[in-house]
Amino acid sequence: MSTKNEKVDCPICSLNDTTLINTRDRGGDCEIECPICGKYWITRSSKKIPDNFKEKSKLSAWIREKNLFYDIIPEFDSRNIKSIIENLPYYSTSQKQIILLRALRQKSKYPGDKVQLNEEQDFPLAWADNANEFRFYLQSISMRGFVELDSTLDHFTANISHAGWEYLDKYGELPAFQNQVFIAMSFSKALEEAWEKGIKPAVEKAGYKPYRIDKIPHIERIDAKIITEIKNSKFLIADVTEQKNGVYYEAGFAQGLKRPVIWSVRNDEIDEVHFDTKTFNHIVWETPKELSQELYYRICATIGESRTQK
Ligand SMILES: [Zn+2]
Repeated sequence: MSTKNEKVDCPICSLNDTTLINTRDRGGDCEIECPICGKYWITRSSKKIPDNFKEKSKLSAWIREKNLFYDIIPEFDSRNIKSIIENLPYYSTSQKQIILLRALRQKSKYPGDKVQLNEEQDFPLAWADNANEFRFYLQSISMRGFVELDSTLDHFTANISHAGWEYLDKYGELPAFQNQVFIAMSFSKALEEAWEKGIKPAVEKAGYKPYRIDKIPHIERIDAKIITEIKNSKFLIADVTEQKNGVYYEAGFAQGLKRPVIWSVRNDEIDEVHFDTKTFNHIVWETPKELSQELYYRICATIGESRTQK
């Protein structure tokens, strides 16, 4: 690894006041620190983000979240960038207010701390597209009495009020922030090992709780239960081996709720994958061990490890 301190254009948001801090692999990998996107590694081969990718601000928000909440510096390469982009979450206007409040909590060193903000650089903290949208969320949570704002000439500060801390205690953990992962797969005996030695250990290693409907005793109607548990999950893993309709249904439902879906299939069935979902990037596996390794890698790359259970 060699330390640099060069000014470059950010490969993600194009900001020109960005620093190349480190390189490794003979300059093939670059560590970037951008005032908007935060810190990340990117390989030169993947440095060009697709031009038609309209949601660059979401990618900035995704990196800032990994930096701020998990102390993770994400690493982009030509292999993972496509699935990360495909799986970026969608948040509603009201969710973004809670997200901003959570970010302020994370940045507060103690209750009452005045967190300094620069709207031109910190808008990704609210998963906003730009400074205007960010200001809207900040004013909204201020009007709701959750933060007190203070401004000087060149920056402003926000500190979470007592009501804000109370609100965070009650509602700070949205389903999308929770730790459960819904597993959609065939329950056949032939795939038992893929579950036991493949999916389950990979999900647990990443710090999440795998939820498979047939493994949990319940008395409710199965569809209602499935829908509730998908809503309660942060993301869904769909292994489409054996081509069960239920697996496609559950994955489609999760996508409708804007929950990320990680797709996988055993290599002898790759040609059977349903036409509509074929374009998604599937983990193609041969052995449960291989599935476990690839899945763990994909979870870390696209969702990030969970720190709640670690
Ligand atoms: Zn940037």
